[in-house]
Parts: sequence; C-alpha cells; structure tokens
Amino acid sequence: MVFLDTPIEYLKGVGPARAQLLQRELDIYTYGDLLEYFPYRHIDRSQFSTVRDMDIEEPYVVLRGTIDEMHTVTSGKSTRLTARFSDSTGTVELVWFQGIKWIKESLKSDVEYVVMGKPSVFNGHINIAHPDIERADRESATTKKYYPVYSSTEKLKTKGLNSKGIAKLMEQLLMMAKGRIPETLPPAVVAKFKLPSRADAIEVIHFPRDHHDLVLSMQRMKFEELFFLQLDYQYAKYSRRLQTDGYAFPVVGDAFNRFYHEKLAFELTGAQKRVVKEIRADMKSGHQMNRLLQGDVGSGKTLVALLCMLIAIDNKCQACMMAPTEILANQHYLNIKRMLEGLDISIALLTGAVKTAAKRKIKEQLREGKIDILIGTHAVIEKDVQFKQLGFVVIDEQHRFGVEQRSKLWTKSVRPPHVLVMTATPIPRTLAMTLYGDLDCSVIDELPPGRKAIKTLHCTDAQRLKVFAFMRNEIAKGRQIYVVYPLIEESPTLELKDLMDGYESIVREFPLPQYQVSIVHGQMDSEAKDYEMQRFKSGQTQIMVSTTVIEVGVDVPNATVMVIENAERFGLSQLHQLRGRVGRGGEQSYCILMTGNKLSNNGRERINTMVATTDGFRIAEADLKLRGPGDLQGLQQSGILQLKLADIVNDEPIVRAARESVQEILENDPELKAINHGCLQLYLQKNKRGFAWGKIS
Ligand code: ADP
Ligand code: MG
Repeated sequence: MVFLDTPIEYLKGVGPARAQLLQRELDIYTYGDLLEYFPYRHIDRSQFSTVRDMDIEEPYVVLRGTIDEMHTVTSGKSTRLTARFSDSTGTVELVWFQGIKWIKESLKSDVEYVVMGKPSVFNGHINIAHPDIERADRESATTKKYYPVYSSTEKLKTKGLNSKGIAKLMEQLLMMAKGRIPETLPPAVVAKFKLPSRADAIEVIHFPRDHHDLVLSMQRMKFEELFFLQLDYQYAKYSRRLQTDGYAFPVVGDAFNRFYHEKLAFELTGAQKRVVKEIRADMKSGHQMNRLLQGDVGSGKTLVALLCMLIAIDNKCQACMMAPTEILANQHYLNIKRMLEGLDISIALLTGAVKTAAKRKIKEQLREGKIDILIGTHAVIEKDVQFKQLGFVVIDEQHRFGVEQRSKLWTKSVRPPHVLVMTATPIPRTLAMTLYGDLDCSVIDELPPGRKAIKTLHCTDAQRLKVFAFMRNEIAKGRQIYVVYPLIEESPTLELKDLMDGYESIVREFPLPQYQVSIVHGQMDSEAKDYEMQRFKSGQTQIMVSTTVIEVGVDVPNATVMVIENAERFGLSQLHQLRGRVGRGGEQSYCILMTGNKLSNNGRERINTMVATTDGFRIAEADLKLRGPGDLQGLQQSGILQLKLADIVNDEPIVRAARESVQEILENDPELKAINHGCLQLYLQKNKRGFAWGKIS
C-alpha cells in the first residue's frame, strides 16, 4: 500500500477507537490526511509571558514558573484538581478535571515548569484549564523553538488528542514519513517557482525551524492547493474544447438580421459588439460554449443575450432564458416580446404561476419545436420540460443559481447547448479566476451613451426633511422614486413593521390625491406584487416603497431616486444592485443612503465606498475584503470554501501563479500525456470527486 494511504488506525498510539474519532471529528482517515492536518498557529516557546502581563484574550500563553500548592476539590459529582502556579510576577491557578490522579502524582513542587494553555477568568480569578505542562529542563532540551497548535474537539480531548496529543502523533508520523512523501507537482513547476519539495514543506509547516521557512512552506502548500483546484476546473474546460459535440451555428440569418436592422433603435456600444463577436466565435466553433458575461446593471447584457438567441434560432435551434425571480422572468418576457414584435418568432413564459393547462400546452409546443424562445424561472428546469432542439441557454443573475441548476439545463438537449451566464454582480478578479476557472469570461465595461453617473449621498435621520423636500422636487419634475427597507431575516414581523411604519410616514408626507404610493414586500402574493409593480412601471404611482424584492433587474427608466433606509444593514453588492435600479434613463439620478448617526467601522466603510465609486468591480473588491469569501452568495458549492490553507483574498498572487501555470500546461498538453504530467493524471484519477458538473446534479 502507498504509505500515505495507510489507515490512521495503524499509527502507534491511535488504534480503532481514536481512529474512528479522528475520522468523525476531523475527517482524518489516512496518514496522508493527518500530515495535511496543519496547525493553525505556532507558539514561539522562547517567548514567555509573565503572569502579570499575560493577555487573557490570547488563545494560548506560555509561562515559566513553579507549582507550590495542590488541592483536590469535590463539589457534587465532579472532582477537580487545582494547582497554584507562580512566576516572579504573580500567581495563576491551573485546573484539571480529568486524569487527576496521574497528574497529581507527577507534578513536583521543586522543579520549574513551562505551562501552555488558554487563560480564562473564573470566579474573578485567572485560571488555565488542562494546560500543557512540561519540565523546563526537558522542554528546552527536547523541543523545537516553534511548537504547533492544532485545533481539536471536546471528544478528541477526552481521548488525549488535544493539541499536544496531536503534535505527538505528528512528530512520530513525520519520522516514519521520511522519504515517503512524493512530489505531486510537475518538476518544471517546482523549479519555475523555486518551491520547496512537498515533503519538506509538510514537515516545516508542522515544526518550523524559523519563520522564513514556515512562510515558504505555507506558500508551497497554498500553491499546490490552488493549482489542483484550477486543474479540476480547467481540465474540464480543455476537455470540452477537445470535444466536437457542441452545436455549430454557422448561419446568421433572418431572425438576427431583421431584428438588428429593422427593430434595434440604437447602435450597440463598442463593448456589446466585442462581446457579441466573442460569443459568435464560440458558437461557430462546434465546441460547446460556457461563458460568463459580466457587466454592470444597465450595461446592455440582456440585449446581447437576445442577439445570441436569435442566432441560435437562425440555426434551427431553440433558446431558453432563466431568471431568478418571477418578476424578472416576466419583465424579460414582456421586453423581449415587445422587441420581437412583427418578427416570426414565438416566445413563451414558464413560471410557477402559469396555470396547469397552459403549462401543459407550453411543454407540448416546446417538444414539437413550436416555441423558439422560452423564458422562465426555475420552472424551466423541471424534468418534464423537454425541448425539440435546445441550442442556447441564458442564465440571468448567475449568483442566485447554483452550479447544480446550471448543469440541469445541460441535460435538456442531445448535444450540450451553449451556455451564457450573465451577472450584474461583478466578481473580483481573484474570485472569478478561481470560481469560474471552467468558464470563459466576457465583460461589458461600457454603459450605453447618454447615461449620467448616479450621484450618491449619505444622509442621517436629521436630514430627513431635506430628503423629503428633494423627493417632492424630483416628483414635480415627473420622476419616480424607490424607497427600500432592509430584509430582516431574523424577524420577518419586524421587517414588515419597519416597512409599514416607513410606508405610513411616506404616505403622510406625500398624501393623496397629489401623490400615489406603491408598496411591495415579500409577504404579498405574486399577483398583488405584480399589480403594484405594474402601477409603478406605468407611472401611476410616483413612489415605490419596498423591501429588497426589487433588488434584481426591474427596469423603470423614469425612476431617478433610490432612497435606501438603514443602508448600513445592507451588504455592498446589494447596495450596488439597488443603486443600479436608477440611472437607467437619460436623467440625472440619485442614490440616497439613510443611516443613523452611529455606524460600525465596517458599516462606515461600506457607505463610504458607495459614495466614492460607482465602479462595480471596485465595489466587488471592497466587498470581498470586508466580508471575506465565505459570505459571498453562491460560493457554497464551489471548492473555494473548502480550501484548507489558501485564502483567495490575501493570496491573489498565488492564485494567479497557480492559474497561469495550469493554463500553460493544458495549452501545451491538454490531455496530460507527457511523462512529467503523470502526477497530474494520477491526481485527476484519484480525485474523481473533481469538478464535473454532471456529477453534481
Ligand atoms: P442589463 O441586462 O445589463 O441590465 P439591459 O440589456 O436590460 O441591461 O439594458 C438596459 C437598458 O439599456 C435597456 O432599456 C436597453 O434597451 C438599453 N440599451 C441596451 N443597449 C443599449 C445601447 N447600445 N444603446 C442604448 N440603449 C441600450
Ligand atoms: Mg438585467
């Protein structure tokens, strides 16, 4: 058996019971797994704190001193052992609840000890429970300067596998592993980036000799981690390129040309033209396209998507567009239907709200190929929705759909359809590189001409009257206004109350019959929502009060003011999305961020970022820095959150290097046939869990 695959049970000091715990608690099954269970920090054992200056917030302190008194205290059923530990500056209590007899016998009062542990305050005194304790003379003789700290769990601790216990196993295993940890990266890559060998890096991360070594070794392991993540993604992409089973769309025919020349009232922007060309090239190639289209709200993505759907139709295929909400699907449907008026193209809408009989009819027509374009919500991925010849799929606002849902659409066609994923939430470059390694990227980085940059202001409650006056002024000019309240997930009732209170005060300020105010919230049924949205859209109401249901995609070009209440409660990307609801017509638009006087640092940072820039990419970068990737929507399914070492925010240079070297390898050897790429083949075979969309659904 390969050494690293040896079951952990066989390691001396482990055995079946602990092995089971290690599996269950830490996912450690083999020697290899244990070796990759890295410490979350190291203690510099040459740096002692003193009792007086000890920082009780620290997760770990190292003290040096003596023990002078021990007591066994029994209260109720539990017994504990306490010891008084002193150095020249003061005294703390050490406490044990287990192993009392053995500890009591082994501790001496006339020797110096090094004590390590987490200080806590109990009954007003500082104590350290279950410290690691070692005689000072032995300690310095046998141990390294940096000592690893591993996270453990309560269950493991009761079996002796606290941090120190794990360190002991690790030391032993590392001795056995000498010469038995093979390199996993191709030699050329190791040489190019001057990486330490895998074996050295692993040993150093557990027991570093000095700080510099540790940093280099961490980089090596992070690189490896990101390299293989990239390999998973990109191998799939390159294999797809090798296949020729995608639809080839050589023709640009009537559907496209008539729309383009007879219907389109404006010139495409340069960015739109470029992107259409990029997509065209993919569609002609005979390889299946998987492309991410990024562009700020209002940059004209939907139009690009429509042009591409028309090309699919010109090539005797059907197209499908999936939106995250009913409102959006509806809006796309109505827009596209209007734009295609007079052309011989049939288009249908399929959402949960469509009545059963009508649904059945649509499904039948889809199978018969009588529908050219299907627009809908999740409803379109239901099993019994079958197409005659689905050639092109558009997914709007990607981050609301998981990879899983994307892959379901693939299966609706004999050949895999071309897929265009559109998102208005720009994705920071590092994230896009990692998360969308399997997708090609297009960016629309230009707004249609005549748009004025939205002005963003931060106002507090004290300025509310001024804000009302401003709103009245805009309405007098014939404009419309959104007032948005945050979603309060913990308390839908509170949310509704906030919204209703706000609505009432708006209605008081903007009374009938001069003003009409709409309200939309999550607890309304979709019919009522649509009715209100429609009233606002058609200009019957001037103010739309709502929770974040309007967040995505609603298009009312006449709306010029977006007032966001409790703006500090929103995340950056959400604020940016909301702001994108205005500025869609030719008029100057405004976004007013209302907050209380007191803001957290993070909240202030978000507000300041919004005031400072309208650039979606800059906002996305700031968002990622403030929140970390864990909170970003849609990342749960991606491998990114399972990264053990690398951190895509702070390790951007490593992400880039790993990505580029994978790319270089696959450009030259897409099937990984070279001898030096044997290790990569091995990895892919071993990691069948690798990223394959089909396997996820
Ligand atoms: P997105 O989907 O990126 O939010 P849309 O495609 O919905 O943007 O376009 C927003 C608005 O801009 C729509 O009313 C659309 O008709 C209009 N539009 C799109 N492209 C152009 C262009 N090149 N010139 C002028 N208006 C455009
Ligand atoms: Mg849109």
